[in-house]
Parts: sequence; C-alpha cells; structure tokens
Amino acid sequence: MRSEKEIKASEALQRRIDGMNKLHTAQVKQICERLGYGFVMQQASLLWGERDYGAAHTVGPSKACTVACGCKVPYECDWCCGAGWLMF
Ligand SMILES: [Zn+2]
Repeated sequence: MRSEKEIKASEALQRRIDGMNKLHTAQVKQICERLGYGFVMQQASLLWGERDYGAAHTVGPSKACTVACGCKVPYECDWCCGAGWLMF
C-alpha cells in the first residue's frame, strides 16, 4: 500500500507529464498546420524507419476510406493487426 506522500508525489508527476504532453501536442499541431499533417506523418514514418527499421509505423489511407474494425482487443486482431480500423 502506498503512503500518502507517495500518492502525492505520483499525482504531482502525473500533472507534470500531462503538462508536457499538452505542450508537445501543441508543438506537433503547430508543425502539422505549417507543413501539412500528411507530410509530417510521412516524414515521421521515414525517419523512424531509418532509426529503427521494422519498428516504424506506416502511414495509412485517409480516415474517410476506413471503417472501425469492431474488434475488442485490436492487438490480437488478425483483421486490423492492431490498427482498430479497416479499409473499405
Ligand atoms: Zn481489429
């Protein structure tokens, strides 16, 4: 069982992480608005692939061309392979 001091420290850490995530999200949005969301996604995929071949995500089709897979556990799904969506 965690002490009250540990719980408060954990909550403070989570608040810092939340603040950093908001800042990073704002920074990514700013870059995407300037360069284009598709361009940023494509470049991120290429750069990640150069760094960790096989680990990088690929950029998929437009969201408008997909439907929700409907699976309960995406990472175990043979249809969507964890994406949670399918092309139609
Ligand atoms: Zn699925």
